Amino acid sequence: MVKELNYPPSPQPSDGAISHSARLTKDGSQAAGYPASGRGSNREKQSINAAVIGGGYAGMAAAIALTDRGFQVTVFESARQLGGRARSVVYQDTRLDNGQHLLLGCYRQTLHLIEHVGGKIEQDFLRLPLQLDLHGEFSLKAPRLPAPLHLLAALLTAKGLTLGERVNAVRFMLALRGTGFQLTDDMKVTELLAIHKQDLALVQNLWEPLCIAALNTSIHKASAQVLLNVLRDALNGSRADSDMLLPRIDLTELFPQRAASYVERHGGKIFISSAVEALRPLDNGIEVTSVNGISHFSHIICATPPMVAAKLLRPIAALAEAVVQIDSLEHQPIYTVYLQFPAHVTLPHAMIGLHQRCSQWLFDKGRIAGQHGLIAAVISAEGIHQELSREELAQKVIVELREVFCIADQPQWLKVIAEKRATFCCSPNLRRPSQKTGLPCLMLAGDYTACDYPSTLESAVLSGLTCADQVPDN
Ligand SMILES: Cc1cc2nc3c(=O)[nH]c(=O)nc-3n(C[C@H](O)[C@H](O)[C@H](O)COP(=O)(O)OP(=O)(O)OC[C@H]3O[C@@H](n4cnc5c(N)ncnc54)[C@H](O)[C@@H]3O)c2cc1C
Repeated sequence: MVKELNYPPSPQPSDGAISHSARLTKDGSQAAGYPASGRGSNREKQSINAAVIGGGYAGMAAAIALTDRGFQVTVFESARQLGGRARSVVYQDTRLDNGQHLLLGCYRQTLHLIEHVGGKIEQDFLRLPLQLDLHGEFSLKAPRLPAPLHLLAALLTAKGLTLGERVNAVRFMLALRGTGFQLTDDMKVTELLAIHKQDLALVQNLWEPLCIAALNTSIHKASAQVLLNVLRDALNGSRADSDMLLPRIDLTELFPQRAASYVERHGGKIFISSAVEALRPLDNGIEVTSVNGISHFSHIICATPPMVAAKLLRPIAALAEAVVQIDSLEHQPIYTVYLQFPAHVTLPHAMIGLHQRCSQWLFDKGRIAGQHGLIAAVISAEGIHQELSREELAQKVIVELREVFCIADQPQWLKVIAEKRATFCCSPNLRRPSQKTGLPCLMLAGDYTACDYPSTLESAVLSGLTCADQVPDN
């Protein structure tokens, strides 16, 4: 039996946002589109029968965009819940996320879509001005000045660097601005930092943590151009673009669940626990074999993780190029250690980094989401921590919390979530598969597909919107 989602309807936005198009233009204005509330053109669209495979952020973004164009879309999701890598996990009656996520103010399409389906950004997130705090070692905080002065002031007043190092960082940023954050040839981040003579302290305290946080790839492997793309959009636009947003509600509720309610309200169908097992091109579309049986669609947006996409696409000769590109992607892990301490335990800030420790970033979920005593330690990218068992890793984090913050309490429970394939390895000159494939009726969505950005919620959402654009009107 197909399990159909029956989420309670999410609150209708009082500002009428639901009738707006799903997509923002690049400058942030609303794109022309088919307002969902004013559709009524379904009869003309009967020849188009689109389905989305995968209910993560990419798939649900595609589903929303198709819904807004008047299509009654079908979503197949293999798991029992939506959200994919950005999903909620319930443990010990506590809602956790599959990994602590941070969004940047420049993730415009994601933030817009969250609002479009009923979210309220200022309620749903804790918004922090750009700041990096490596406890006791380094700190930088952007003052409330217009961009890019806020960044220059942040760099010039950073603690833990000499005056010469601070000036050097500013010089680097100005040089990047001068080139529009565009390199002639991509290279590794370490190479770019060497060309611009960034001192060791700057590399260790600023650029390395920033690169790992943004690209989930070490500076020795990461693409300088992709890092510059993020810096360009986060640091070179408005001040709000560099804000850091920490979700106050779980990642499934934040967008995919609201998106599902939205799609269903407009006649679409969401099938959970419904893995797609095979795709077969037909003269007039694609045959989909799922655990529920066989169905036929005119267009398919495949928004699964890359390895599943490769498996589904491999038997189709016309998609060989995409499969080769997917197969060549390497992956990087992210470990999240959740520790539930007694409610009185807190950290000095909502988010704080540790210098040269196993725990890279610590999040005080009490300060962020009212989950008092809950601390999330995030360890991004590959490293020697992967040689530890989950229990050993958790104990290491507990010891670090004791040594650095004098937290003597023992956690009441702990949960280690290891995502071995959290993101692709964002190396230079990576050829990511296009959303368009060798079959006009099949598109690829997902954070790994072609995009300026690394593997992020924003790249996932952008890919979903791009795929939806490829579906013709009739
Ligand atoms: C621990 C962790 C921390 C992260 N931190 C951040 C962060 O701070 N900021 C940020 O922007 N990004 C972060 N990311 C990355 C972000 O989560 C991903 O880029 C994004 O969620 C990818 O979305 P997606 O829709 O492309 O893929 P996925 O989320 O992988 O969605 C694919 C969906 O397809 C479904 N599926 C699989 N097989 C089938 C099948 N056969 N049939 C039907 N459905 C199928 C899956 O169940 C899943 O729901 C993090 C990721 C992880 C894992």
